[in-house]
Amino acid sequence: TIQSVLSGSSLQATMEYLCSTPKSEGHYIMRAMTLNDGSGGAVISHTDVTDRWLADTALRESEARFSKVFNSNPIAVYIARYDNRIILDVNESFLQLTGLTRQTVLGHTMPELDVWVIPSEDEANVERFRQQGSAHDIEALLRDRHGGLHNIQIAAENIELGGERCVLVLLHDITDRKRVAADQLRNELLRVELEKEKEMRELKERFIATLSHDFRAPLTVIQASSDLIGQFFDRLSLEKRMRFVAEIQIQVKVMLEMVDEVLVINRAQSGKLRASPTAVDAVAACRTIFENIQLIDTEAHEFIFSAAVPQPLLLLDEKLLRHILMNLLSNAIKYSPRGGRVSLDLSVRADSLFIRVTDQGIGISAEDQPRLFDEFFRAQNSGDIPGTGLGLAIVKRSVEAHGGIVSVESEQGVGSVFSVCLPAVPASHDS
Ligand code: ADP
Repeated sequence: TIQSVLSGSSLQATMEYLCSTPKSEGHYIMRAMTLNDGSGGAVISHTDVTDRWLADTALRESEARFSKVFNSNPIAVYIARYDNRIILDVNESFLQLTGLTRQTVLGHTMPELDVWVIPSEDEANVERFRQQGSAHDIEALLRDRHGGLHNIQIAAENIELGGERCVLVLLHDITDRKRVAADQLRNELLRVELEKEKEMRELKERFIATLSHDFRAPLTVIQASSDLIGQFFDRLSLEKRMRFVAEIQIQVKVMLEMVDEVLVINRAQSGKLRASPTAVDAVAACRTIFENIQLIDTEAHEFIFSAAVPQPLLLLDEKLLRHILMNLLSNAIKYSPRGGRVSLDLSVRADSLFIRVTDQGIGISAEDQPRLFDEFFRAQNSGDIPGTGLGLAIVKRSVEAHGGIVSVESEQGVGSVFSVCLPAVPASHDS
């Protein structure tokens, strides 16, 4: 071959040839350059160009591979010029996704194709891409030529093609994936909703059962006492008659309290429980409620009252304060063993009244605490202790109507601390 080059008319000829040397294994790509020396002879140089040859081959193969991946990719891809965004090439999937033809796409920009539902989003994406040099996981909504909407996940990279700076943009159609995720979410929400509804129904049923039971008990006492008075009025001593009348009065009071609880909750649920603060001697009011509670205690609890309130005349809603304290204190008694200590502490800080009710009772498990203030909720360890599950709901509603917060700290078998913070600015004596 070299011979034929030499015999050619050109002064200079180049060729590449494959050779192998006996010394080493493998083949080399050599470049032979001949230079006619002008006197009929020739200078021939041989250079090893194996590396360059391999690199060129690799590049050619890589381009072929890229072209294959580009064209057969199930994800829509386009290549655009970096500077003016003119589309240079698109794959088949791009045409399928957009419903456009190659002719209408090539030579145009994406905004000109008018496929993005919110064009300003595209602008923002381009800007982001310019700043970051690459972009991943951008989502946008694409409308195809037939009006179909597609959720698209966009990824873009800078590439160099034929020495020109370009962007390679992948448009991944995630509509189905989104739909499945949305369906799953909807089903999950529906399941939670149904579960909540079922739980609410069960709680209400339990509440009605409890209430009718709790109503029946005082009614039975009232009936028995009034029957005895009616039948044996003449034969009963005055003292006995008075005892039966007192019993009737106590039971009527119990029933009235139950009806009141239901009414308070009902008012709170319809948004009618509102605070009407007036000037109240907070310490005196709380002490009175505390003493009233002690009168109905039959379990010999130890009661401790403390107040660090230098200026007790505060703007408070006394009715709401009563709902809060009555329920917290009656619970402290109800859920504590005989003789257990129940304390009420008052303090004032930054125009707020802090109320703390502490007991050494059965406590509440960590699992039950988050739902403690829900209507009708009763903790697992409440057992046979009577209750409607409305007291703490009333406390919470009353505290919130007063713009305050309530919290609980409790440990099973150790006791509970209920803390209430109520905004309560000092009142002047004439307010
Ligand atoms: P109930 O009428 O059942 O007492 P509440 O709404 O007042 O209803 O209280 C809800 C539940 O919280 C109670 O059933 C009880 O399980 C628990 N609980 C409330 N206060 C205490 C307390 N001081 N100690 C232990 N458990 C309590």
